[in-house]
Amino acid sequence: MINPNQTTLQSRAEQAMPGGVNSPVRAFRSVGGSPIYAKRARGPYLETTDGRKLIDYCMSFGPLILGHAHPSMTEAVQQAVLRGSSYAVTTEAEIEMAELLKQAIPSMERVRMMSSGTEACMTGIRVARGFTGRAKILKFSGCYHGHADCMLVKAGSGVAGIAAASSAGVPEGCTADTLVARYNHLEDVDALLAEHAADLAAIVVEPVAANAGLILPEPGFLEGLRERTSNIGALLIFDEVINGFRFTFGGYQDVVGIKPDLTCLGKVIGGGLPVGALGGRAEVMERLAPLGDVYQGGTLSGNPVSVAAGLAGLRWLQTNQPYPELESNTRYLVEGIRALAERHGVSLQVPTLGSLFAVFFTASPIRDFDDVLASQTDRFAPLFHQLLARGIYLPPSAFEVGFLSIAHTRDLLDTTLTAWDQALQALGETPS
Ligand SMILES: *Cc1c(COP(=O)(O)O)cnc(C)c1O
Repeated sequence: MINPNQTTLQSRAEQAMPGGVNSPVRAFRSVGGSPIYAKRARGPYLETTDGRKLIDYCMSFGPLILGHAHPSMTEAVQQAVLRGSSYAVTTEAEIEMAELLKQAIPSMERVRMMSSGTEACMTGIRVARGFTGRAKILKFSGCYHGHADCMLVKAGSGVAGIAAASSAGVPEGCTADTLVARYNHLEDVDALLAEHAADLAAIVVEPVAANAGLILPEPGFLEGLRERTSNIGALLIFDEVINGFRFTFGGYQDVVGIKPDLTCLGKVIGGGLPVGALGGRAEVMERLAPLGDVYQGGTLSGNPVSVAAGLAGLRWLQTNQPYPELESNTRYLVEGIRALAERHGVSLQVPTLGSLFAVFFTASPIRDFDDVLASQTDRFAPLFHQLLARGIYLPPSAFEVGFLSIAHTRDLLDTTLTAWDQALQALGETPS
């Protein structure tokens, strides 16, 4: 059924914005079909312009751990904006935010607020290079660190691994100093270090990889990165833009007891408003201007409305500590999905941690990005659409992670599992 309103929006969007969107995944290219258009959202529900009320498991790709339009957040935002939307003068709220982050994540001895996770990662790399006087950066395939030029790379060919740009418009010079290893493979790291240790400024990693579905760190992997970077005088950067305040009130670094030199945050700490933060060892962070020689700045950095939303959300999380419940609810959903997959004879891996989960069509556990690519990613789109038709909205790509919020109650999870049962049934009846 073609909804005229929907068709109009799509053609207007496509005439006015590249691909009709302001960020590519929203265009539904990897699942096909028409993208959805949001009208409003509350709690676990996303309402579309064509009148559907979806149970949302995308949750804006991570910021909304309290659900959409949580009252603590909307009230804080309303009050903040009435006092002015931007001053470009430091506020007490920014100081409080930095103090709260320092307290929650002790490795963040100094904090700088910014407007996106991309900015936090880009600045983390710049300050690591400035501090060490070295150029090379090592990252892991399948990890995403925003869209700064030097991070837009394809996996290297083997461990020889000087990476090629994964996007047009990125000159060779921008990626010439980016090395790529497989996540969970310390032997790749060692092979790269054998050649590049003296030139390496930093290793950057998502402690829990959550931008290629979900890949959990094997015991010893993150510890091994800490040990190796310390030994060679390089910095360890934990990109906790998704991980931060997702698994615990703090970073995943606190769960595993590893202190990185720098930490990148975003998403949850802005409560759904634009935000990023970089923090870390004082002597590294104090290389940033105005104290040091590494430049970084931003007209809207530490924006009072973003900071108000972020602080309100963080205070709520600190007071209410919803993490055990988020985890047990997510486990309930995931175990339900696994049982249904088995009943319908579908080989599915559903890795989970905290309130994150991902779906891979394969019988083998996922250890790195090669395993993700080896899974049947083409089977995700039909599943996505079967679920969407039943009011369940997963992130619209096989490479994104699913998110639960505190608003996803057991009742909703049961409704969701009923939809999964019907979706898997329907998929079984259509020849693939
Ligand atoms: C989302 C994300 C980023 C980029 O953050 P933006 O706010 O989208 O710029 C960086 N790193 C990780 C791990 C992310 O998930």
